[in-house]
Amino acid sequence: MHQIETAAKEWLEKRGVKISEIADLVYVLQKKYHPNLTKEECEENVNRVMKKREVQNAVITGIQLDMLGEQRKLMEPLQTLIETDESLYGVDEILSFSIVNLYGSIGYTNYGYIDKIKPGVLARLNDKSTGECHTFLDDIVGAIAAAASSRLAHRAKDAE
Ligand code: MG
Repeated sequence: MHQIETAAKEWLEKRGVKISEIADLVYVLQKKYHPNLTKEECEENVNRVMKKREVQNAVITGIQLDMLGEQRKLMEPLQTLIETDESLYGVDEILSFSIVNLYGSIGYTNYGYIDKIKPGVLARLNDKSTGECHTFLDDIVGAIAAAASSRLAHRAKDAE
């Protein structure tokens, strides 16, 4: 496995996010379109998305900023923007778009939907009472799930 891919997967794990939990989000997004969908297929699609360099770069960049924010090591005014997850900051979403984009515009629909309902791991990452900072990671995880869903949808269509 490539060094950056290994780092991206390790950092996700270190920040409490399992590949299987991202696969659960894919399942939520796609089960109504694919009645025979399995969790294994979802996980396979997440793993394929994790092989993309754009995804690995977004993961290691976003997590680094979250961790520095948590440790209060950023310079102002960025420290406050990231620490408080300021709603007008928006760079967290922009970074995620490099992931959402990978499998075409259907990714945006999936991303918007999962970001609105915030199931499973996304609810945990958005819990502001923990003292942890996941300003970037919540968007990145939603984006990986959205991209994996798009990949799955395109491949299902091709198989028809
Ligand atoms: Mg965010």
